[in-house]
Amino acid sequence: MNTCCTVPIKEIAADQHKEGGECCLIEQTPAPALATCPVSKTSSRKINRRTLEHLLKPDSVKKIQNVQYYYCNEPSCDVVYFSHQGPSYFIKEDLTVKIFHKDNGDNVNVCYCFDWTRGRIEEQIRSTGQSTASEEIAQQVKDQKCICDITNPKGRCCLGDINRVIKEVKQQQKL
Ligand SMILES: [Zn+2]
Repeated sequence: MNTCCTVPIKEIAADQHKEGGECCLIEQTPAPALATCPVSKTSSRKINRRTLEHLLKPDSVKKIQNVQYYYCNEPSCDVVYFSHQGPSYFIKEDLTVKIFHKDNGDNVNVCYCFDWTRGRIEEQIRSTGQSTASEEIAQQVKDQKCICDITNPKGRCCLGDINRVIKEVKQQQKL
């Protein structure tokens, strides 16, 4: 960490912080929880930098800037990550994985930790009438084997999406 950032915030506020200008204040000001996608205008949640580092292709990882990023979940929008602090953003093609919210394909992951694709869930329901995905993932979460924060493009747990897909598939198959 920059030495200037060890200066107590009170001293910075008192203008005793000369070198480095406002960097410390910016760093210590929490970014808003939500920001608006510049393309689709979708209200989007904050995403951790390490999710981007894990999921972007190597050439794109190099383009990550020292800004807060947000995840756009609008299906029709090509933008995946953007920042409200500058013109830095990443589109679907910049990621190594297909994005559940933006791709309806059967080979797209719903759960990225334990490889539950739409197709796998459909197949299980077709042959057994049920899916064990939700229970199995919940057990793994309980056992702390889930790393959704870096494997899932939205940086969060997949269980809501899993339950939605199971419900949709059952409706389609009229179960
Ligand atoms: Zn968008």
